[in-house]
Amino acid sequence: MSERLAPRVKGLSYGGDYNPEQWPESVWAEDVALMREAGVTVVSLGIFAWAWLEPADGRYEFDRLDRLMDILHAGGVAVDLATATASPPAWFSVAHPESLPVDPDGRTLTYGSRQAFCPSSPAYRRKALDLVERLAERYREHPALAMWHVHNEYACHNAHCYCEISADAFRAWLQARYTDLDGLNAAWGTAFWSQTYTDWAQVQPPRATVTSSNPTQLLDFRRFSSDAHLANFTAERDVLTRVSPGVPITTNLMAASCYALDYWQWARELPVISNDHYVLAEAPTPPAAQTAYAADATRGLAGGGSWLLMEHSTSAVNWQPRNLAKAPGALLRESLGHVARGSEGAMFFQWRASRAGSEKWHSAMLPHAGTASKVWREVVALGGALRRLAEVEGARVVAHVAILLDYPSGWAQEAPNQPSTDLGAFDEIKRWHAALWRAGIAADLVHPAADLSRYVAVLAPSLYLADDDAIANITDYTASGGTLIMGPYSGLVDRNDHLRTAPLPGAFHKLLGVRVEELFPLPEAASVALDDGSTAAVWTEQLSVTEATVLASYLDGPVAGEPAITRFGETWYLGTRLSDDALTALLASATGAPVTHRVPAQVEAVRRRHDGGNSYLFLLNHGDGPAVVDARGTDLLTGTAWTGPAEVPGRGVVVLREA
Ligand SMILES: [Zn+2]
Repeated sequence: MSERLAPRVKGLSYGGDYNPEQWPESVWAEDVALMREAGVTVVSLGIFAWAWLEPADGRYEFDRLDRLMDILHAGGVAVDLATATASPPAWFSVAHPESLPVDPDGRTLTYGSRQAFCPSSPAYRRKALDLVERLAERYREHPALAMWHVHNEYACHNAHCYCEISADAFRAWLQARYTDLDGLNAAWGTAFWSQTYTDWAQVQPPRATVTSSNPTQLLDFRRFSSDAHLANFTAERDVLTRVSPGVPITTNLMAASCYALDYWQWARELPVISNDHYVLAEAPTPPAAQTAYAADATRGLAGGGSWLLMEHSTSAVNWQPRNLAKAPGALLRESLGHVARGSEGAMFFQWRASRAGSEKWHSAMLPHAGTASKVWREVVALGGALRRLAEVEGARVVAHVAILLDYPSGWAQEAPNQPSTDLGAFDEIKRWHAALWRAGIAADLVHPAADLSRYVAVLAPSLYLADDDAIANITDYTASGGTLIMGPYSGLVDRNDHLRTAPLPGAFHKLLGVRVEELFPLPEAASVALDDGSTAAVWTEQLSVTEATVLASYLDGPVAGEPAITRFGETWYLGTRLSDDALTALLASATGAPVTHRVPAQVEAVRRRHDGGNSYLFLLNHGDGPAVVDARGTDLLTGTAWTGPAEVPGRGVVVLREA
């Protein structure tokens, strides 16, 4: 896991998706000349070019790609060459209508968009692998080839398919998991509602039915679907490894926006971890905190090591209700926000803005306005900045806190028939991360069964489902003196979404020294006050302490007078959903973790350090005015020496090689 593009691309990678099928060959020379002007080092080439490369079944036309690879190489631009399998051509879908995805209502979704295929389709797999094999054979020795880019954003649109082919594949997956129907019936709890299966042929995906489906069926279908997409990835990867050995391989994940795939399973299979991230312009969480989460989550998948920001946007996107353009300076700050947190470069969708098609209003490195534009000037400036930051490559982010993230737990918690639809799992993990971000404390996102020994504190904001490995790992961590801070509604069910035995929370009641008697979710928009001055919303629990100390109790609400926050040794339990401010204050003190650097509130500070070598302090000023920071070193972006307190310009970035 976590290889790097180096030595095929020197320094930090800079560039974007290059989709030449949209343009006449006459613009290619200008593209490469402008790439050189911008300092582009690598492009992701041909991600949606299947129909361009194979215009009819078995008719491969690589001449244009040959010429383009040569032109790019002559221009000094390396290629992250796509396998182009993300969007099957119309001829394929017409020839194989059984490959089209089917929704839970039984409606077949047609082609004419992208990613319109069933992840379990053998026809899709066969034709995709044919194309991959041809590409690998043809370009494996090409000097421009730096990396293979498999597919694009797996499961972005076709995460789950409910067709007959998928039903068969789901049954086979279940047979491997449970061996016999007794095992499946027990795991799914089918005795209730007379759901017992007596023949494998009766077992279906969770298709639309009169009311909610069996929750463990839903959970297993999500696991199965993640595995089905992963099998497509590993099949392509294995062809590339066989035909084109030694070339790095990646696929672009969406660590901050896609929860359909169990990315921990994927990370084990991915040689290079890369990620796409798009800021939600109108979300309550500031863009910089969104960026920090995406980067920290991706770095977690890379085991704390190298990863690459494969896509973000130079300005507006095209798929939000209102696509807000970025203010001056935001491009540099956002890109370096990712680099600060471990990305070995900054890549964009896409190089040249489209004139037609669904993404024509998505910003690009070369905008519709051309080079006489804010976007182009900032793109050129970013290229220069990344060149000056080359020595940062390979330095690791210093984080002392871990935040636990488990996909099946979130899937189970966000299924129907839970106590409250307001207590989201993945959003709550992001909210705790944002609280740490506000406190200036760096954090890694990690799997609950990962090695936790290097962290001074571990946060479990949302761990409704905890399997036996996770429980043992967390228990071992606390036994060795680590600080654990756990959020509400955690440790309640096992891997099959069955409640653990009383007292609740079954997995952790001994560890936390508390007992949960009854859950008291709050009405929409209601809040409660605590006797430590904080407020909370969404959720309360009737909690009694067995061995823990009560740190705060409810002043009002359905469990007024009862404990809300408890502590037992170094384990803390929050039986409620604290407000953002209260959560930030609590985590800042309870983790015992150092802030990265003392900075004014408008400045974000992140540190990367080479093992036994230089350390780099990234200072990102998200405020309009300048901010004074006390630090020493050399600003790599300007060459300025810092010998004490100095100014980070408003909306600007300073990267110090620390003295
Ligand atoms: Zn299907």
